[in-house]
Amino acid sequence: MKGKLEPSERQKLVEEGKNLKERLVTLEEDLLNLTDELQQEAQCVPNMTHPDVPVGGEDCSSIRKMVGKASEFSFSVKDHVQLGKDLNIFDFDAAAEVSGSKFYYLKNEAVMLEMGLINWAVSEVMKRGFTPLITPEIVRSSVVEKCGFQPRGTNTQVYSIEGSDQCLIGTAEIPVGGIHMDSIIPESSLPLKYVAFSHCFRTEAGAAGAATRGLYRVHQFSKVEMFILCRPEESNSFHEELIEIEEELFSSLGLHFKTIDMATQDLGAPAYRKFDVEAWMPGLGRYGEISSASNCTDYQSRRLGIRYRPESSIPPKKGKGSSTPTRFVHTLNATACAVPRMIICLLENYQQEDGSVVIPEPLRRFMGGLEIITPKI
Ligand code: AMP
Repeated sequence: MKGKLEPSERQKLVEEGKNLKERLVTLEEDLLNLTDELQQEAQCVPNMTHPDVPVGGEDCSSIRKMVGKASEFSFSVKDHVQLGKDLNIFDFDAAAEVSGSKFYYLKNEAVMLEMGLINWAVSEVMKRGFTPLITPEIVRSSVVEKCGFQPRGTNTQVYSIEGSDQCLIGTAEIPVGGIHMDSIIPESSLPLKYVAFSHCFRTEAGAAGAATRGLYRVHQFSKVEMFILCRPEESNSFHEELIEIEEELFSSLGLHFKTIDMATQDLGAPAYRKFDVEAWMPGLGRYGEISSASNCTDYQSRRLGIRYRPESSIPPKKGKGSSTPTRFVHTLNATACAVPRMIICLLENYQQEDGSVVIPEPLRRFMGGLEIITPKI
């Protein structure tokens, strides 16, 4: 009879429908997992590189400039850990008990030094036309990913917050990049220049064996970061401007340092070109990285959806819409002051024979006029 099925046939079709429904659930789950995996793999695809970047590993990086001379001492120098202990300005032992290894308390003059350095760096960069910001230090994992960092996986540098889709930031670059997410900036507003203060949180996974003594490699630190959004044709010249600002800041503190054009294998995923600064740390007896300036071109803006609308001199053709097409901005970031490494440089370079440490002149007005830190014994 038309429209009716034998009960056994009907039962077979009902079963088939049930199976299909179950299979659909599994396939949808698989699709979600595969999309996630694909997303993670796509995250590993790095930016292009500037044609002048040296090709190869760390050894291939080239020195762009040497500034200043290494301090000379007529006595045997101490490292910052010993100096900090004698001056009673750090406590690593209590921090290890309270938080774990690679944490620290700053005490007494070290607190003034940290706050002085932050104020000094923000003021110096503001003088150069940057807008100051204090950023959120917890952000969505999706924003971390869009900035080119990997919040998941075994070797992640990112602390995720359990039970949420949020992370602690490893650098202010992430929340600053996020401010203009999914927006179209009028061309007349470019360049946008920010100087942002934040704490930074890093798991330092895989850092075992690397220089980790004292304040050198810690899980939480303060940093003042510069960030620029600009038109694509201007990003190479803004990259030069950022490294020049860094050089001016570090020279004004009397540091001896070199600036380095980092080789391709040391660029990380988002950078098209990266200039690092390594300063002389006499107590550690070596140069140590104190800052990094990267041109990320449109790597972050494509993922974050940050565009601008060129104010084209050619009026749009009739009937073709009323506005010119949008383009992705370029983003750049650079360290103005990574506080713990700067404290290492200052203590180790300005130590005196009696164990005291002289504060460089430009910082004094940010430290209530303090000129010297003396041992408490
Ligand atoms: P990055 O954002 O990784 O380029 O780091 C910027 C600067 O922060 C570096 O040049 C270092 O001076 C400093 N830095 C990075 N990681 C640490 C850490 N774990 N502890 C202390 N300072 C750090």
